[in-house]
Amino acid sequence: MPRMAYADGNCSLARALEVVGERWTLLIVRDAFFGVRRFGDFATQLNVPRAVLTNRLKRLVDEGVLSRERVVGGAVEYQLTEDGLALLPVIRALMAWGDAHSSPAGPRRVMRHDADDGLLDDQGRCSACGGRVSVPEIRIEPGPGFDPSRTPADPVSEVINGPRRLLEPIRP
Ligand SMILES: [Zn+2]
Repeated sequence: MPRMAYADGNCSLARALEVVGERWTLLIVRDAFFGVRRFGDFATQLNVPRAVLTNRLKRLVDEGVLSRERVVGGAVEYQLTEDGLALLPVIRALMAWGDAHSSPAGPRRVMRHDADDGLLDDQGRCSACGGRVSVPEIRIEPGPGFDPSRTPADPVSEVINGPRRLLEPIRP
Protein backbone atom coordinates (compact mmCIF):
# COMPACT_ATOMS: atom_id res chain seq x y z
CA MET A 1 0.00 0.00 0.00
CA PRO A 2 1.29 3.46 -0.84
CA ARG A 3 1.64 5.74 2.12
CA MET A 4 -1.36 7.97 2.76
CA ALA A 5 -0.40 11.59 3.28
CA TYR A 6 -3.93 12.97 3.49
CA ALA A 7 -6.29 12.00 6.27
CA ASP A 8 -9.54 11.83 4.32
CA GLY A 9 -9.65 8.36 2.81
CA ASN A 10 -13.10 9.05 1.42
CA CYS A 11 -12.11 11.94 -0.77
CA SER A 12 -11.15 10.95 -4.29
CA LEU A 13 -9.47 14.31 -4.84
CA ALA A 14 -7.20 13.55 -1.90
CA ARG A 15 -6.60 10.07 -3.29
CA ALA A 16 -5.79 11.44 -6.75
CA LEU A 17 -3.41 13.97 -5.23
CA GLU A 18 -1.61 11.12 -3.50
CA VAL A 19 -0.71 9.98 -7.01
CA VAL A 20 -0.25 13.20 -8.99
CA GLY A 21 -0.17 15.98 -6.39
CA GLU A 22 3.53 16.02 -5.61
CA ARG A 23 5.73 18.70 -7.10
CA TRP A 24 6.93 17.81 -10.65
CA THR A 25 4.59 14.86 -11.07
CA LEU A 26 2.04 16.48 -13.39
CA LEU A 27 4.86 18.06 -15.38
CA ILE A 28 6.34 14.61 -15.88
CA VAL A 29 2.92 13.41 -17.05
CA ARG A 30 2.65 16.44 -19.35
CA ASP A 31 6.06 15.66 -20.83
CA ALA A 32 4.95 12.07 -21.38
CA PHE A 33 2.00 13.44 -23.41
CA PHE A 34 4.59 15.47 -25.37
CA GLY A 35 6.40 12.26 -26.27
CA VAL A 36 9.20 12.34 -23.72
CA ARG A 37 9.98 8.75 -22.71
CA ARG A 38 13.48 8.57 -21.27
CA PHE A 39 14.82 9.47 -17.85
CA GLY A 40 17.53 11.71 -19.26
CA ASP A 41 15.06 13.59 -21.44
CA PHE A 42 12.67 14.25 -18.55
CA ALA A 43 15.67 15.38 -16.48
CA THR A 44 16.89 17.68 -19.26
CA GLN A 45 13.52 19.27 -19.98
CA LEU A 46 12.35 19.71 -16.41
CA ASN A 47 15.71 20.42 -14.79
CA VAL A 48 14.49 18.34 -11.86
CA PRO A 49 16.95 16.78 -9.39
CA ARG A 50 17.61 13.23 -10.53
CA ALA A 51 16.76 11.68 -7.18
CA VAL A 52 13.39 13.42 -7.25
CA LEU A 53 12.76 12.31 -10.81
CA THR A 54 13.61 8.72 -9.88
CA ASN A 55 11.16 8.87 -7.01
CA ARG A 56 8.36 10.42 -9.08
CA LEU A 57 8.75 8.00 -11.99
CA LYS A 58 8.74 5.02 -9.65
CA ARG A 59 5.58 6.28 -7.99
CA LEU A 60 3.86 6.80 -11.34
CA VAL A 61 4.81 3.28 -12.43
CA ASP A 62 3.70 1.79 -9.09
CA GLU A 63 0.36 3.57 -9.47
CA GLY A 64 -0.14 2.38 -13.03
CA VAL A 65 0.05 5.82 -14.62
CA LEU A 66 3.23 5.05 -16.56
CA SER A 67 4.58 1.78 -17.87
CA ARG A 68 8.31 1.13 -17.76
CA GLU A 69 9.83 -0.93 -20.54
CA ARG A 70 13.26 -1.79 -21.78
CA VAL A 71 13.42 -1.15 -25.51
CA VAL A 72 15.71 -2.38 -28.25
CA GLY A 73 19.20 -1.17 -27.47
CA GLY A 74 18.69 -1.52 -23.73
CA ALA A 75 17.28 1.91 -22.91
CA VAL A 76 14.37 2.20 -20.49
CA GLU A 77 11.30 4.08 -21.66
CA TYR A 78 8.26 5.31 -19.79
CA GLN A 79 4.89 5.58 -21.51
CA LEU A 80 1.43 6.56 -20.38
CA THR A 81 -0.93 3.70 -19.63
CA GLU A 82 -4.69 3.90 -20.17
CA ASP A 83 -4.98 5.36 -16.67
CA GLY A 84 -2.27 7.84 -17.53
CA LEU A 85 -3.92 8.88 -20.79
CA ALA A 86 -7.10 9.53 -18.81
CA LEU A 87 -5.27 12.41 -17.11
CA LEU A 88 -5.34 14.55 -20.27
CA PRO A 89 -8.57 16.36 -19.32
CA VAL A 90 -7.01 17.19 -15.95
CA ILE A 91 -3.93 18.65 -17.59
CA ARG A 92 -6.00 20.51 -20.18
CA ALA A 93 -8.19 22.00 -17.46
CA LEU A 94 -5.21 23.09 -15.37
CA MET A 95 -3.53 24.60 -18.44
CA ALA A 96 -6.73 26.51 -19.24
CA TRP A 97 -6.95 27.72 -15.68
CA GLY A 98 -3.29 28.75 -15.81
CA ASP A 99 -3.93 30.69 -19.02
CA ALA A 100 -6.96 32.46 -17.58
CA HIS A 101 -5.18 33.17 -14.33
CA SER A 102 -1.79 34.29 -15.59
CA SER A 103 -1.58 34.70 -19.36
CA PRO A 104 -3.25 37.96 -20.49
CA ALA A 105 -1.90 37.47 -24.03
CA GLY A 106 -3.96 34.31 -24.43
CA PRO A 107 -3.28 30.58 -24.23
CA ARG A 108 0.37 29.63 -24.08
CA ARG A 109 -0.40 26.39 -25.86
CA VAL A 110 -3.40 25.28 -27.86
CA MET A 111 -4.63 21.85 -28.82
CA ARG A 112 -6.12 21.13 -32.22
CA HIS A 113 -7.53 18.19 -34.11
CA ASP A 114 -4.56 17.51 -36.35
CA ALA A 115 -6.73 16.27 -39.22
CA ASP A 116 -8.79 19.46 -39.66
CA ASP A 117 -7.03 22.11 -37.52
CA GLY A 118 -10.15 22.51 -35.35
CA LEU A 119 -9.46 23.92 -31.90
CA LEU A 120 -10.40 21.64 -29.04
CA ASP A 121 -12.87 23.00 -26.53
CA ASP A 122 -12.56 22.40 -22.82
CA GLN A 123 -14.37 19.10 -23.20
CA GLY A 124 -11.88 17.90 -25.78
CA ARG A 125 -14.35 18.31 -28.63
CA CYS A 126 -13.20 19.59 -32.01
CA SER A 127 -14.66 22.94 -33.06
CA ALA A 128 -14.41 21.98 -36.75
CA CYS A 129 -15.84 18.47 -36.96
CA GLY A 130 -17.57 18.32 -33.59
CA GLY A 131 -15.98 14.99 -32.75
CA ARG A 132 -14.24 13.95 -29.60
CA VAL A 133 -10.59 13.69 -30.60
CA SER A 134 -8.48 10.78 -29.42
CA VAL A 135 -5.15 11.61 -27.81
CA PRO A 136 -2.85 10.64 -30.71
CA GLU A 137 -4.98 12.75 -33.09
CA ILE A 138 -4.39 15.89 -31.04
CA ARG A 139 -1.81 18.42 -32.16
CA ILE A 140 -0.37 20.79 -29.58
CA GLU A 141 1.25 24.03 -30.65
CA PRO A 142 2.33 27.38 -29.26
CA GLY A 143 -0.56 29.78 -28.73
CA PRO A 144 -0.69 33.59 -28.67
CA GLY A 145 0.56 33.69 -25.08
CA PHE A 146 3.63 31.57 -25.78
CA ASP A 147 6.81 33.51 -25.07
CA PRO A 148 9.85 31.75 -26.58
CA SER A 149 12.19 33.77 -24.37
CA ARG A 150 10.68 32.17 -21.27
CA THR A 151 11.13 28.56 -22.26
CA PRO A 152 14.15 26.44 -21.37
CA ALA A 153 16.79 26.31 -24.10
CA ASP A 154 17.50 22.61 -24.30
CA PRO A 155 17.13 20.12 -27.15
CA VAL A 156 14.08 18.42 -25.61
CA SER A 157 12.22 21.68 -25.09
CA GLU A 158 13.05 22.72 -28.64
CA VAL A 159 11.29 19.63 -29.95
CA ILE A 160 8.25 19.73 -27.69
CA ASN A 161 7.63 23.44 -28.20
CA GLY A 162 7.01 23.08 -31.90
CA PRO A 163 3.63 22.04 -33.34
CA ARG A 164 3.37 18.28 -32.96
CA ARG A 165 1.04 15.43 -32.20
CA LEU A 166 0.70 14.27 -28.63
CA LEU A 167 2.52 11.04 -27.75
CA GLU A 168 4.73 11.24 -30.83
CA PRO A 169 8.13 10.18 -29.48
CA ILE A 170 10.66 13.00 -29.35
CA ARG A 171 13.23 10.46 -30.53
CA PRO A 172 12.23 9.18 -33.96
ZN1 LIG B 1 -12.01 17.79 -36.09
